Amino acid sequence: MDFAFSEEQQMFRAMFRDFSAKEVAPKAEGIDHEERPPLDVLRKAANQGFLGATLPEDYFGAELDYVSYALLIETLAGDCMSTAVTLATHVSLVAMTILEHGSEAQKEDWLPLLAAGEAIGAFALTEPDAGSDAMALQTRATPEDDEVILDGVKTWVANGDIAGLFLVFAQGPEGVEAFLVPKDTPGLTVGYREPTLGLRGMTFNTLYLEGCRVPQANRLGGPGDGCEVAQRAQDRMAIALAAAGLGVAEASVDVAAQFASERVQFGVPIAKKQAIQDYVAGSLIEVEALRYLVYHAAWLADQGGDFSFDASIVKAFAARVARTVTNRMLQVLGGYGYMEDYPMARKYRDARALGIIGGPTELHHVRVAQRIFAERDLEIAP
Ligand SMILES: Cc1cc2nc3c(=O)[nH]c(=O)nc-3n(C[C@H](O)[C@H](O)[C@H](O)COP(=O)(O)OP(=O)(O)OC[C@H]3O[C@@H](n4cnc5c(N)ncnc54)[C@H](O)[C@@H]3O)c2cc1C
Repeated sequence: MDFAFSEEQQMFRAMFRDFSAKEVAPKAEGIDHEERPPLDVLRKAANQGFLGATLPEDYFGAELDYVSYALLIETLAGDCMSTAVTLATHVSLVAMTILEHGSEAQKEDWLPLLAAGEAIGAFALTEPDAGSDAMALQTRATPEDDEVILDGVKTWVANGDIAGLFLVFAQGPEGVEAFLVPKDTPGLTVGYREPTLGLRGMTFNTLYLEGCRVPQANRLGGPGDGCEVAQRAQDRMAIALAAAGLGVAEASVDVAAQFASERVQFGVPIAKKQAIQDYVAGSLIEVEALRYLVYHAAWLADQGGDFSFDASIVKAFAARVARTVTNRMLQVLGGYGYMEDYPMARKYRDARALGIIGGPTELHHVRVAQRIFAERDLEIAP
């Protein structure tokens, strides 16, 4: 067992920190307050290869291992969770899904464009009546000759406004299927942008599919493979979201510790008060526990086996740690924590998303419970 990063991973981490400090941190507040997707940051990230982070070099990706990719998302989220989750949606949910399930033609058509940032990816699974029960889809995929006609409504599609490619899930004759739908396909309309509590630099849109025709060749995987395609994508995304939770939580501790060292009340820095020490120390302990769960899950993904159980564990834990730590660190800042001119309010709002996005915590708990009780011959249904 070796917990050390390789020299390459250390080099990547230094590069990510440098990029984020120069390109992301100075813009993060503006991105949030103006509710503007970080397009200029994405362009610069594409130049660094980050938009094709884990794609092979054959498709112009950076061919990062998952541990390095987790370090990238963690670093970006420390400065701006909107940027980190935009990138994770693009890479983990869309680009990597095409790499894993796509035909050679689909990979050649899309992966270089995604790696270059010429198309941003979006993942359209959730519907008004299919949330946690994600496979209860009403959207229909009706085959006609060598085409498929898509009809239905998708909700809360992250990156909706900026996407060039939508990965759309629909009910076909043989079960759930996944389709690559370019933005300019007739019959596809990007609708209402939902105002949100946090992640305000991201757009979450309703997507309308009305007689939207795509070639059968746009199906990702075989007929009826959509369930597996979606699950694998969400397992990958769970690790990326957990890395984002780690980033936002550890950055919050940093901000609060600095504040507590400088803020003087009753004649001393508040860091000298045991209540504040407890908040900060207890939070750092949780952050460190999360750190090794994240790196371990990413390492498991690098080994190529099944990592879905560990993905659920780390995602559920990250959501809890990010929420409780940002909440406590906001308390350390007192009134300054509540004010939008200071970064803690944004971190707190952003962190709250992690209990829902990428599947709610309760459903990840169900998956963990399924494993526990399977060993006792008890079948647990969601
Ligand atoms: C910020 C954000 C970004 C998102 N981005 C995307 C995206 O890009 N693409 C996409 O397709 N979707 C996206 N979603 C949708 C997200 O995946 C869903 O919100 C999530 O799956 C939960 O569905 P729901 O909100 O309909 O909740 P519901 O399914 O209605 O659940 C409501 C509550 O009931 C609980 N619950 C439901 N069933 C059970 C059960 N069996 N056991 C115990 N508890 C249960 C849930 O955990 C939750 O607490 C996004 C959501 C958010 C908030």
